[in-house]
Amino acid sequence: MELIKVKNPIVEIDGDEMARIMWRMIKERLILPYLDIPLVYFDLSIENRDRTDDQITLESAKAIKEYKVGVKCATITPDEERVKEYRLKKAWKSPNATIRAYLDGTVFRKPILVKNIPPSVRSWKKPIIIGRHAYGDIYNAFEYRVDKPLTVEVVIKDDDINYFPIHNFEGKGIFMVLHNTEKSIRNFVKSCINYALSEKVDLWFSAKDTISKIYHGYFKEIFQEEVDKKKDDFEKAGIRYKYLLIDDAIAQIMKSEGGILWACMNYEGDIISDMIAGGFGSLGLMTSVLVSPFGEYEYEAAHGTVRRHYYEYLKGNPTSTNPTASIFAWTGAIRKRGELDGTKEVCDFADKLEKAVLKTIEMGIMTKDLQPLSEPFVERFVYTEEFINKVKENLEEILSKG
Ligand code: NAP
Ligand code: MG
Repeated sequence: MELIKVKNPIVEIDGDEMARIMWRMIKERLILPYLDIPLVYFDLSIENRDRTDDQITLESAKAIKEYKVGVKCATITPDEERVKEYRLKKAWKSPNATIRAYLDGTVFRKPILVKNIPPSVRSWKKPIIIGRHAYGDIYNAFEYRVDKPLTVEVVIKDDDINYFPIHNFEGKGIFMVLHNTEKSIRNFVKSCINYALSEKVDLWFSAKDTISKIYHGYFKEIFQEEVDKKKDDFEKAGIRYKYLLIDDAIAQIMKSEGGILWACMNYEGDIISDMIAGGFGSLGLMTSVLVSPFGEYEYEAAHGTVRRHYYEYLKGNPTSTNPTASIFAWTGAIRKRGELDGTKEVCDFADKLEKAVLKTIEMGIMTKDLQPLSEPFVERFVYTEEFINKVKENLEEILSKG
């Protein structure tokens, strides 16, 4: 069979443990036999990050900036335990945090919907995608524990000095000072708009501007400004923007059928993304994409390196780790590459591979994580390798039909 030619490179970022094992199987069996694809490869295994003093992570981020599209395998974010386990020089920073900071991007989490794995909320028929602003608020706050009566003021130094009262403590208490920046918020908003336009989904933003008129109000104002600039693009894509109070958004999402990008402030996004992921089922069905305000994209699975399964693998036991989200990371990147290059046959291949995965699961061939969620219930689960081989069989059948 003739290979489908991919015009421009995709940045491939390899990772760790079980995710790395699956990565290789996916690449060798489902990608390389069908695509003639220039891959710019970076090995972000914990060993190589340690060897290069983590320079490799920054280089991979620069490559995504250059080539616009990347696909990343899950990587270990080392803590003290991992430093010992892998005898590292130090607990290197999270690679995802480094790449996100370099691209000033926003992470969008999107569930994969399969007919026989129904979401726990009955009305959800299409993906609910969460975009989380990942700078500031309580995550970069000043906190203080008051243990005796005292007065707290905020000092603002400009040309002159101004004092604003916070509270007169008559006893013990606590306080916190939050901040955010226009640049970070605006880049977040631009990434959300890029993503909504690219996926053709409605965009929601929710906050509590009735209470926090200035802080939350500022987010709302910037959203409206940026959306207004793209009014024509929204119309062309047939999508809408709406602002909701956060409590209203929570109530509405439970009755919604999905097909929404829900942009959230930092804390809300942290929590709500886990609630939505739980509602859609397994981590093995959750994808994630980092989008920069300049239209650079990095696709990955939302799960980690699946450490527990890897230890089983090292003992020589077969594991039933779900490769679906990793396959969809590849198809996401391949489709985006095809869109940017204007190569329809490349986009078509991504569609067909996704179809092959969904067909496999819908035939009742699934990994262990999905089995308890299946409806109708599937009696037997398969190991990763068997699943991938079945996907390949289905893919060949779909490709042969043209
Ligand atoms: P994890 O990889 O997300 O896995 C946690 C548990 O979720 C697994 O033990 C497994 O449950 C289930 N699971 C996750 N993905 C699955 C899949 N594809 N198929 C089947 N089950 C799946 O988290 P972890 O094992 O606690 O973390 C390992 C490492 O991943 C950590 O070092 C962390 O730093 C890193 N991490 C990386 C990223 C990233 O690169 N994006 C994200 C998160 C975490 P059962 O054991 O019950 O089967
Ligand atoms: Mg969270």
